[in-house]
Amino acid sequence: MNEQRRGTRRERRKKESKKKHLGSIFLTLIVLALALGGGYWAKTSFFDTKENTIPKTSEQKPAVKNNDEKPAEQPFQPTNKTIGKRDVAIYDEDLTSAKNYTTSAYYGYEVNLTKQATLNNKKYYLASLENQEIGWVEEESLTDDLTKTWEKLSEPALFPILMYHHISQGEDSLYVPKEEFDAHMQGLKEKGYYTLTPEEAYLVLTTNKVPSKKIIWVTLDDGYTDVYTNAFPTLKKLGLQATMNIITQPEYPDNKVTKEQRAELVNSGFVQLEDHTLNHIDLNALEPAEQERQMSESKKLLTEEIHRPVTTLCYPAGHYDETTVEIAKKVGYKMAVTTTYGFGASSDGLLELTRVRVSPGASKETFLAMIGEK
Ligand SMILES: [Zn+2]
Repeated sequence: MNEQRRGTRRERRKKESKKKHLGSIFLTLIVLALALGGGYWAKTSFFDTKENTIPKTSEQKPAVKNNDEKPAEQPFQPTNKTIGKRDVAIYDEDLTSAKNYTTSAYYGYEVNLTKQATLNNKKYYLASLENQEIGWVEEESLTDDLTKTWEKLSEPALFPILMYHHISQGEDSLYVPKEEFDAHMQGLKEKGYYTLTPEEAYLVLTTNKVPSKKIIWVTLDDGYTDVYTNAFPTLKKLGLQATMNIITQPEYPDNKVTKEQRAELVNSGFVQLEDHTLNHIDLNALEPAEQERQMSESKKLLTEEIHRPVTTLCYPAGHYDETTVEIAKKVGYKMAVTTTYGFGASSDGLLELTRVRVSPGASKETFLAMIGEK
C-alpha cells in the first residue's frame, strides 16, 4: 500500500513537471473546453475520481463500448438503494476507463446514490458507502429489497453462528488447526450451505426470509493473523463468506491482522469486519461510560477505516449484562453475538445472539453433526 502511495506520488510529481512545460497548452485547452460547455460535465461526472483508500484487488472489468458517446447526466434526487448483485461492476471514471472493475466487496450494502447518468440507453448511478464515493454502478445492480427472491419461512429462522478464534496449531482450545478448518469449510460446501454476511444475517433474523435452505454465519473473533494466513485462502477458494470480529486497539497487535491485511480482506468480498471493541476488556466489569467508549469509539474507528456500516458487536470473552445490552443498542449496533451456546434466533434478541463454538479436534463429521447435519 505504501509502495502504491509512493508510486502515485511519483507519478503525480512527474505529471506536475510535465504540466509546467505544457502549462499554456493545457490552459488553452481548459478554456476551450469550458467555452464549449463541457465544464459542467467534467466537474460533476464520471471524470470525478477519488482515490480510494482501500486498494482494489478485484478483477478488472472490460470497458463498455461507448461508440464515442458522452455519458449524459440527468437531474437527480439523491436516494438510497442496496447493491443487490454479487459481482457488481464499478466504473471509476468514464465508462471506457481501464480502471473499471467488478467486485463482490459491496454486495448487500445500502449505498447512497447522488447522481444519475445515461450512456447507450443504460442508466448509471454514482454511489457512496459511509461517505466514500465508490464509483458509478449500473441500474441493474441495485435493488430496493435484497430479500426479494428469498424464501419466506413458516417457522422462525434458526441457524448456526459458528465461533472460531485462531486458525493454526496451538496449545489451547482457541486454536483450530488449518487442516480442521479446511475440512469444516469443505463440509459446508459439500452439504450446500450458504454462508451469510452480517447484513444478510440481519435480514434473515428480521424478515424471516432466507436466501437458501441451509444457512450459516461463520464468525472468527479477535482478528488473528493466522486467520488471514490460513483461513482466508480457503474461504476464497471455496467462495465462502466469513465475519472477522476486530479489536480496534489491541493490547497485543503483533499477532493481529494489519491495516493492509484488513483492507485486503474487505476488498476480497469474502470477509466482513465487525466490532470486538477498542481493547477487549470484559464490558460488564466497566462503568457504563467506559463501556460506551469501548463500543462507540471502536465502531467509529472501524467504520472510518473500512467505509462500511459496522452492524455487529462481539462481546469480549462473552461478558456482558443488561446495561451492556442497553449501551450496545444506544451505540447503534443492529446485532451482537455472545459466547453462549445455541443456534442463532431472533427470539434471543438481536443483541444476544448465541453461537456454536468450534474447538480443536473436530473432524468434518463431528463438525457437521454439531451444526445439525446427519
Ligand atoms: Zn475475543
